[in-house]
Amino acid sequence: MFVYADNAATTAVSSFALEAMLPWLTEKYGNPSSLYGFGQEAREAVEKARRTVASCLGAASAGEICFTSCGTESDNQAITSCARLGARKGKKHILSTRFEHHAVLHTLKKLEKDGFEVTLLDVRDDGVVRPEEAAAAIRDDTCLVTVMLANNEVGTIQPVAEIGALCRERGIPFHTDAVQAVGHIPVDVAKMNIDLLSLSGHKFHAPKGVGALYVRRGIPLLPFLEGGAQERGKRAGTENVAGILALAAALQEACAKLDENMARVTAMRDRLITGLSKIPHSRVNGSPERRVPGTVNLCFEGIEGENLLLALDREGICASSGSACASGSLDPSHVLLSLGIPYELARGSLRLSIGEYNSDEEIDCILETVPRTVESLRSLSPLWKEYAEGRREHLC
Ligand SMILES: *Cc1c(COP(=O)(O)O)cnc(C)c1O
Repeated sequence: MFVYADNAATTAVSSFALEAMLPWLTEKYGNPSSLYGFGQEAREAVEKARRTVASCLGAASAGEICFTSCGTESDNQAITSCARLGARKGKKHILSTRFEHHAVLHTLKKLEKDGFEVTLLDVRDDGVVRPEEAAAAIRDDTCLVTVMLANNEVGTIQPVAEIGALCRERGIPFHTDAVQAVGHIPVDVAKMNIDLLSLSGHKFHAPKGVGALYVRRGIPLLPFLEGGAQERGKRAGTENVAGILALAAALQEACAKLDENMARVTAMRDRLITGLSKIPHSRVNGSPERRVPGTVNLCFEGIEGENLLLALDREGICASSGSACASGSLDPSHVLLSLGIPYELARGSLRLSIGEYNSDEEIDCILETVPRTVESLRSLSPLWKEYAEGRREHLC
């Protein structure tokens, strides 16, 4: 059996999205900036897609949506723009959290080198940031607060509406990386007090290489790429017409089926949590309730996450460990460490992220395979032997 359980990494393109994009890759290849009808047809299609995305997010107008090439670009542009505009007013402090995606954290690192001061809020062991801690960390010179809506590794949902309200009161732009949330849980930029929001198509069944940035009217945005006047001068470069149409179609589809998908995926996820937490000396990471429907993150004592992934791959299961694994490093993920999980335990992590394309049979397969695989890896693990023989104290 082949089981794809890594939907937080990327998703399959839906047939609805594929159908929406195909004509714009074949016969309708005009450039939206061209003045003749063949180009204007593409322009109109892009504008319709913009209205669809705006309406799915609860935006006041289509002009608040800027299409980009990915979630990473949206994060980079939103953060860099707010920082540069803040600096012009002498405000050079940015507030964020320890467990953001690298698209946010690395952008903040770069700004630090340029003289900005960054405060990263701690995350509690339930994987949720506390609004009162955000309130206490906001300063007079804070030019941006950026807190993700749903974490990509543990799936926990952050109190974005509350933090957004704090920022609104103080007149500070509030950005949220909603890449793991859009298309999976209700997202409403008005109700959630969001000024800027990043999303990415390939996390909700559109193709890779297309994203969007919501920017509330009245919030200025500096261009990130210099060039033509596309996207009202906010994002130069000829539009990815087919990708934009697929993104809008996939989002429309996800919003129309949101309740139904959430119920089904949550039920499958809860079966995973119930079944896998029976494995001795394991723990489920992050709040069991405040989480997106599809994501489960666990740690198993005495094993290496990478070894578990390779063993699961041999059984046909695609999952993730959540570890940085850059250049073969076995350092555990910054997200798990930010939740206060001990280093040694964080190395034995597993992220399963399922979606509406998964079936109950596939969940059965995971529930049968993971416990057996963990047991067999433990039987070969010197670390596990130390736990088993009482030479090391159990952490969970
Ligand atoms: C995937 C992801 C991104 C990056 O999106 P890309 O479109 O792959 O660049 C950013 N933030 C979060 C939370 C993500 O899950």
